Amino acid sequence: MTKWVYSFSAERAEGHGEMKSLLGGKGANLHEMASLHLPVPPGFTITTEVCTYFYANGKTYPPDLAAQVNEAVAEVERQTGRGFGDAGNPLLLSVRSGARASMPGMMDTVLNLGLNDASVESLAKSSGDERFAYDSYRRFIQMYSNVVLDVDSHNFEDILEEYKNSKGHTLDTDLTAADWRSVIVEYKAKVAEAIGKPFPQDPRDQLWGAIGAVFSSWMNQRANTYRRLNSIPAEWGTAVNVQAMVFGNMGETSATGVAFTRNPSTGANDLYGEFLVNAQGEDVVAGIRTPQNITEAARKAAGSDRPSLETLMPEVFKQFAATTKLLEKHYRDMQDLEFTVERGKLWMLQTRNGKRTARAALRVAVEMANDGMITREEAITRVEPSALDQLLHPTLDPKAKPAPIATGLPASPGAASGEIVFSADEAAALRQAGRKSILVRVETSPEDIHGMHAAEGVVTTRGGMTSHAAVVARGMGKPCVSGAGAIRIDYAAQTMTASGITLKKGDILTIDGGAGQVMQGAVPMVKPEMTGDFLTLMGWADAIRRMKVRANAETATDARVARSFGAEGIGLCRTEHMFFEGERIVAVREMILADTEQGRRAALAKLLPMQRKDFAELFEIMTGLPVTIRLLDPPLHEFLPQTDEEIDEVAKAMGVSADKLRARSAELHEVNPMLGFRGVRLAIRYPEIAEMQARAIFEGAVEAGRKTGAPVTAEIMVPLVLGRPELDSVKAIIVAMAETVARETGVTVPYHVGTMIELPRAALRAGDIAKSAEFFSFGTNDLTQTTLGVSRDDAASFLGIYTVKGLLPSDPFVTIDAEGVGELVKIASERGRATRPDIKLGICGEHGGDPASITFCESVHLDYVSCSPFRIPIARLAAAQAALGRKAYSTA
Ligand code: ADP
Ligand code: MG
Ligand code: MG
Repeated sequence: MTKWVYSFSAERAEGHGEMKSLLGGKGANLHEMASLHLPVPPGFTITTEVCTYFYANGKTYPPDLAAQVNEAVAEVERQTGRGFGDAGNPLLLSVRSGARASMPGMMDTVLNLGLNDASVESLAKSSGDERFAYDSYRRFIQMYSNVVLDVDSHNFEDILEEYKNSKGHTLDTDLTAADWRSVIVEYKAKVAEAIGKPFPQDPRDQLWGAIGAVFSSWMNQRANTYRRLNSIPAEWGTAVNVQAMVFGNMGETSATGVAFTRNPSTGANDLYGEFLVNAQGEDVVAGIRTPQNITEAARKAAGSDRPSLETLMPEVFKQFAATTKLLEKHYRDMQDLEFTVERGKLWMLQTRNGKRTARAALRVAVEMANDGMITREEAITRVEPSALDQLLHPTLDPKAKPAPIATGLPASPGAASGEIVFSADEAAALRQAGRKSILVRVETSPEDIHGMHAAEGVVTTRGGMTSHAAVVARGMGKPCVSGAGAIRIDYAAQTMTASGITLKKGDILTIDGGAGQVMQGAVPMVKPEMTGDFLTLMGWADAIRRMKVRANAETATDARVARSFGAEGIGLCRTEHMFFEGERIVAVREMILADTEQGRRAALAKLLPMQRKDFAELFEIMTGLPVTIRLLDPPLHEFLPQTDEEIDEVAKAMGVSADKLRARSAELHEVNPMLGFRGVRLAIRYPEIAEMQARAIFEGAVEAGRKTGAPVTAEIMVPLVLGRPELDSVKAIIVAMAETVARETGVTVPYHVGTMIELPRAALRAGDIAKSAEFFSFGTNDLTQTTLGVSRDDAASFLGIYTVKGLLPSDPFVTIDAEGVGELVKIASERGRATRPDIKLGICGEHGGDPASITFCESVHLDYVSCSPFRIPIARLAAAQAALGRKAYSTA
């Protein structure tokens, strides 16, 4: 017999924290807290295997599930001394979904399940609080109808709003038991009208309805989208947690709240959280009421005049604070906790490793390692490399920052500017059009996730640090200001007003999510710096990693940024990028369009001093570090003049007629330039180009060496070879030029000649190529195109479907296709090393900055990865994690 149901209570837990696959994250942690004898309401978990069964068997349950559920319910009845379906002494339950990874796209929790027209009366009597009982019942009807019966919440909100208006009330808390009784009559009528039958009164029907809704929600659109965005496999399934209710809405000595053991925005080691008196859980998350601070320190910092939990309920606070410490120590990580206080008694409802910003992740990891709670190796795995991206972006220039028009909570750090939009769909539409937006809403809900993704930043006028907007934005690394109450949004007029200023849709807004500020217009930004905990953790990563990290850079600015971020050399300098600047392009066009060697040499002579200067500058910036320069690579047609004006300009410079040029230009047209006249093929047909570039490199190295007093090692890289003969032919030119320059200048520049491996044939011929090549650099962008037969520029129309349908595990241009392209890299590495054991191997495609691809590079033992300057810290950390053989631990 399969065990489908696992019970837990502070007395005994059948599961534990390591059972996330079977019990889901929430369930496993409930079992773990219970086994620590923390005050957890008794309950049980229906396993993820039931979810798998459910989908494999036409949405039915295992035959023995019902019996196991009944037994588990009986156990909860015994523990609580109440009866499920006992109208005189009712047991009420919560039904909570919980997948292996936390998933905000899933079903909402149903609270107060088990209430009906009869049991609400006895709840009123037994609690001695009529208002509480009817408040609970109306909440239950609304939640259950919304979540299980598909009757939208707004139906109930409208009824309530109208009722309050008719009585002259503004707050829910103004309503009496009698008021709620009347509202409930209307609620039930609405449900009956919507579903064609009465609201279910039998608690067992209610329970199975809720269980079915949790399993069904696994495949709803919201969940599917979330899974896709976060690469969560559909096979995982969700668990269902059923648990005895405890009540935070039993009057002024009751409360409900959420907390983090450390500040999730900054990582500061302070208990951080919010709560509401006389409320149930959904009130805090929905941001309907603005919550109060848990600690006095936080209350003072926020300048709030509403009491903290610390002063309001000192005993509960003490117990809660101690529990948070215990849990953090137990899990050895910052925890995100949910709790409820029922008439002065604390109940723990959830714990999990808290989501945090990159800044917080760094601080928490470094401080925990320094405190000896975790090792440095663990600290390294506690930060998601790609999350560092958040810290590598510009921030607002403090000197240019105007006064904010509104201030809210610093819900998720970072700065962003964009056009104001008031709906998620508009944000998505703007993104499609390549425009930047700031999503401004009263509050957000899971339906808005696509818009939050599309926007540069998010502003809400309601809700706290733990509101939906705040939590999701932090997870995405998006700047967010929440609870900016001074902003008034008029959705109908598509305007927002703050500080007497009215802005309309399309106006530019800037937000500073770290300061909680909203500014009118665009604000200048400044470059990021690597300091403090960031620097410390990078140092620890550097001590662990084996692979070197170099930069793809050709401009002085990029090279300097790369060095400041810790680049250990240049892995790819694309010389053609130097050809587009200023008047050079005219000389380049002259060279291409010349139809004699003599004409080409005349144009190349003009380019030589410019190239020499470029290289000298790069060598100087990278003093002491290797610089790999790739010879001209792209199809010549990329440089061709397009407009008549451009043609005239070149014609004048060359002293030929525009018509002649136009004819020559037409001759150079190619059907498929990416597989055409490019790469080493240029140097084969026009050796004088390689000759000029080699001269510029050697002369530049001599010049830089004279300036810095340090010798320069040049690495010259020949692109797109098919096999050794091409390389040998170009290498001969380079060797000859090295000798010429040495003779002319009296300085011998040390250098290496290598090649890019970016064609399958080259990968297969690597053993032979290595006889001439001192290094290989895997050009995985082209190698992916040529191996998959997919043009990156044309892939947009079909590649997305491939990943959605699971035909490819991920976008092969983002993460290396380990099975195909990776296999070629592996073969080439092995064959290259067999010929030349000390051959240097690196990667310089975009994959060099992608953490998953970096893990692959470690697995085939490459010597270095090379990536764009702003990804250098990401690559350093990813390389360290790869060396540890551990995947990054997800905290985003
Ligand atoms: P989510 O995954 O969206 O956080 P939860 O299942 O944690 O959903 O439920 C949300 C909130 O509902 C909890 O934070 C808590 O306040 C409330 N809740 C859940 N179960 C109970 C319970 N047994 N008693 C009281 N409140 C509960
Ligand atoms: Mg929760
Ligand atoms: Mg290439």
